[in-house]
Amino acid sequence: MEQRMKTFGPGRTNTLLICFLLAAGAPRVAGASLPRIRILATGGTIAGAQSQVAGARFKSGVLSAEDLIASVPQLREIATVTTEQICNIGSQTMNNQIWLKLAKRLAEVLKDANIDGVVITHGTDTMEETAYFLDLVVKSDKPIVMVGAMRPASSMSADGPMNIYNAVALAANPEARSRGVLVVLSNEIHYAREVEKTNTTRMDAFESPNRGRAGVINDGEALLFARPDLKHGLRSEFSVNSLAELPSVEIVYSYANFGRDMIDFLAQKKVKGIILAGVGDGHTTEEAMAGLRDAVAQGVVVVRSTRVHSGVTRRNIEVNDDEMGSIASEELTPQKARILLMLGLTKTSSVKALQRYFFEY
Ligand code: ASP
Repeated sequence: MEQRMKTFGPGRTNTLLICFLLAAGAPRVAGASLPRIRILATGGTIAGAQSQVAGARFKSGVLSAEDLIASVPQLREIATVTTEQICNIGSQTMNNQIWLKLAKRLAEVLKDANIDGVVITHGTDTMEETAYFLDLVVKSDKPIVMVGAMRPASSMSADGPMNIYNAVALAANPEARSRGVLVVLSNEIHYAREVEKTNTTRMDAFESPNRGRAGVINDGEALLFARPDLKHGLRSEFSVNSLAELPSVEIVYSYANFGRDMIDFLAQKKVKGIILAGVGDGHTTEEAMAGLRDAVAQGVVVVRSTRVHSGVTRRNIEVNDDEMGSIASEELTPQKARILLMLGLTKTSSVKALQRYFFEY
């Protein structure tokens, strides 16, 4: 296995025992009866530090998973933590290939009977996308918790250590089972499908504007609200097992005076799908609409979503989707609609079947 793994146990005796067993080639071992949590680290500000690059105040993805854990010694009291580094990047550079690698590895880790839950450390910029992707493809009822930070680890009052503590406590909490991928930041818990980053710098940058939060958490003590009822995880039809890549789906952003050039360019490039980040309820200019109609005629699947931060984009309200051959994204933001469409296109190109996914997931 290419990832390095480290164990952080609840005390010196157990740590020595674990080291001995690891040296003997034994599988992962839990210390005492504490929950066994694996951290998969991917980078982000939570692993960020002061930058050496002139003009940049900090750099994401500098510290390793072990560095992060070392900054929260209290973890030893609540879990036996093992770590793996999947990648170490700013999540602005997250891509489909890393998603596939992460999803496959996460599925393997969750199958391990010696693991009770998983925490994924991640940058906040695309955390909601990775969370939703994993929510749709990873089949397990064990807790999966994603966590990030708004301040780099080296900054004054870094928020990462408390966020990690809360994330590990939540992953160790049986109440977090069967809820799909959860996101923890700033004492709040969000569902993957609902969560959005809504502020560039604030500590409480994450919200779940449509259906609300999954819960709250303070000093590791969680209060979880209603369970999600839409399809995900074990009930999901999607799988990455046999996938080496994902279909090309791009997003176009609408505004006053938006033309059709971008849409025509994407259709010529033969993308499989275009998501419209439309104005209002997923609308755009007449010129861009004509471009989208032509794209549909050329076999591109078009999904209408909205650039508006909350609300629903429904079929056949201001735009006649039946006549246009388009799909309405319902509650999904453009970036999440892209993920569902990519996965949907791995199964079908029928507009009717793809629309069903947007009703059910
Ligand atoms: N650019 C960073 C990232 O997403 C921001 C953060 O983590 O807060 O990796």
